[in-house]
Amino acid sequence: MRFHRGGTATAGLALCASVLTACGGSGGTGGSGDPASPPVAGGSASSAPPAPAGSSPASPEGGGLRGKVIAIDPGHNGGNASHTSEIAKQVDVGNGHKECDTTGTETSGGYTESAFTFDVSTRLAKLLRAEGATIVLTRKNDTGVGPCVTERAAIGNRARADAALSIHGDGAPASGHGFHIIEPAPVAGHNTKIVQPSAKLGVALRDAYHSGTGIAYSSYIGTKALDRRDDLGGLNLSTVPKVFIECGNMRNAGDAAKMTSAAGRQSMAEALAKGFAAYFGQGAG
Ligand SMILES: [Zn+2]
Repeated sequence: MRFHRGGTATAGLALCASVLTACGGSGGTGGSGDPASPPVAGGSASSAPPAPAGSSPASPEGGGLRGKVIAIDPGHNGGNASHTSEIAKQVDVGNGHKECDTTGTETSGGYTESAFTFDVSTRLAKLLRAEGATIVLTRKNDTGVGPCVTERAAIGNRARADAALSIHGDGAPASGHGFHIIEPAPVAGHNTKIVQPSAKLGVALRDAYHSGTGIAYSSYIGTKALDRRDDLGGLNLSTVPKVFIECGNMRNAGDAAKMTSAAGRQSMAEALAKGFAAYFGQGAG
């Protein structure tokens, strides 16, 4: 998705720009809204007997995430582009209204953001499941429409996820490169309880992604790859610790080369899996 506020979006990016907000789901709180469930078990190793000493936190043989529920949200959807009126429907994101969902961006070669996010999400889900985690995905394929950002947030909320991650690729001007994490800013009456644990999750994922992929901090937004926003429904309405990651700038040739490579996407997924292991290992929350 295209993330610049106000969007200096250039031509083809316009669609994504408007998505901005839509990108973040909101999700009503449905009723349950029990934000308190997240980190109960966090502790460095208290409940879930971790992998044998010395093994890397996210090593496949581990199982260190047993008992954890993680919601993964692959941004956008492959069918959105052909259902523009449907996804343009306005939804309440807690402090305003935004489009239900958006089409996202793509590389100059036509590799779409929705295909990218779905592939990385699928790879990440597989790795986390191997670690014993229960994974909830917000969509099952890359051919559907939506769901609305509100529902994307609600899915993580209903699952009472211990952590949630929305995966995107940015559509910034081609001269900018690198990745960044978007943490929730407080929106009164909605997400205040998750702001702190989300910031912790954001740092854990940033550090793991940076060292695991070698991709640079964003050159055009945030501070050391960390940004904070209150205009994304997916963060505004989440009742569980949640952040977004813009894995790279799909309009930048260098980033696009990594994002269009299967090996590059696997590396991103492996890094993010390690980030979750680090988050839970340090007592999430
Ligand atoms: Zn996006």
